[in-house]
Amino acid sequence: MRNLLFLAFLLASTLASAQQYDLVIDGGRVMDPETGLDAVRNVGIRDGKIASISVSPLSGRRVIHAAGLVVAPGFIDLHQHGQDLASQRVKAFDGVTTALEMEIGAPDVTQFLNSKEGHSIIHFGTTASHLAARALVFGAPLPDGTILPKSGPATDQQATPEQIAKIQQRLREQLDTGALGVGMGIAYCPGATRLEIIDMFRVAAERKLPVYTHMRSAGHVEPGSAIESTEEVIGAAAISGAALHIVHLNSTCLMDSIECLSLVEGARAHGIDVTTEAYPYIAGMTAINSAVFNPGWQQKLGISYDSLVIPDTGEHLTKARFDELHNSTKEQWVIIYGNTQEMIDNIIPNPLIMIASDGAIGHPRNAGTFSRVLAQYVREKKSLTLMEALRKMTLMPAQMLERSTPEARHKGRLQEGADADVVVFDPQTIADRSTFEKPMEPSVGVRELLVGGTAVIEDGKMQEGAFPGKAIVGPGKTGR
Ligand SMILES: [Zn+2]
Repeated sequence: MRNLLFLAFLLASTLASAQQYDLVIDGGRVMDPETGLDAVRNVGIRDGKIASISVSPLSGRRVIHAAGLVVAPGFIDLHQHGQDLASQRVKAFDGVTTALEMEIGAPDVTQFLNSKEGHSIIHFGTTASHLAARALVFGAPLPDGTILPKSGPATDQQATPEQIAKIQQRLREQLDTGALGVGMGIAYCPGATRLEIIDMFRVAAERKLPVYTHMRSAGHVEPGSAIESTEEVIGAAAISGAALHIVHLNSTCLMDSIECLSLVEGARAHGIDVTTEAYPYIAGMTAINSAVFNPGWQQKLGISYDSLVIPDTGEHLTKARFDELHNSTKEQWVIIYGNTQEMIDNIIPNPLIMIASDGAIGHPRNAGTFSRVLAQYVREKKSLTLMEALRKMTLMPAQMLERSTPEARHKGRLQEGADADVVVFDPQTIADRSTFEKPMEPSVGVRELLVGGTAVIEDGKMQEGAFPGKAIVGPGKTGR
């Protein structure tokens, strides 16, 4: 009898502890793009994981009442340059729980990871930078805090076979320290030959890691067309076997975006692992002293000085002002008006397109990309369902990240066992507020944001001093 009582006591206490969660999100519309779940559920979170998704009530030390709100996996931004806290804050208000520097990559991966550990609101990670490795080998290392080289010999000259071998070696060392792949801004080093590009893809392929790339040219005319550039990287992927992710198709294919998408689709249909992304704005932004503005840019891009605008001041450039800024060693961002609303509206709903922001201070995409897609394409234009939009922001980037780390299988999903990176938002009001005049205005509509189970936004307010963001690293660092 005593034993039975003891057993009953044990069972009762086990059940009680099993039912007590750190946090419960009660009665929200739970949406998971992988399983297709779209129903009112209660979500129990424990130890940074989603421990239960249930129709029955759950009890938690803290309860978020989410009736009328959507509960979704936190958004994953594969393309975020602004890794400062001000940018991370606006990303959080945009629903983002992971923001990675994949396009260009950090010049020094160890330094990048160390500087962010314990100081990051959201999860972070990076590729190894081909541009930085090349600059280093050419004896012109990037100045601290910059990721793009100034136009000069290190960007415009061909590398010798010895230099190519050294660049490859630098990339291997960076991959050994936790990079998630190889980042290649080919447009920023026009001196790199086709063979150099293929040789860098080969380094990624050795490690079974992907290449993320800003392609060689955004041109509309041959040679140097966006079509040729797309062929180049798809060819390098086919030759090397490395997976390929083409960044911001909207700003490198411009008026040929639909054709570029057809190239991606064709390559995929024939077994090449290629993916792509876009952001929902008609203008891009880059460094004006970079090689993107080497002579011939007007013919290539089909624009002139007046299409270049300084963020903050709104100054449209003239030839004299352009020459001054292009020749300066100071990194100055410039907004480039190069696409049309009609083209953006055609690209965003395409099922091959993931949403990624290319965020950095100065452009409204830093703060508004994800909410803007939900407001404009789901709610206003109705060219995407909410589930389709969420898939582009969660599951698709998580699956891309799985090419770099198995940890990503626990991201981008609202499922039991997944990481508790969760966004709770109002689907009726979520919207971007950032503009080209006020690029850092935070989005509205995100009520709660959990990063690894820790609330960084609670009841619509930023929780100051919460730094739950963790590094996401590649196999070099994890030893897998
Ligand atoms: Zn880019």
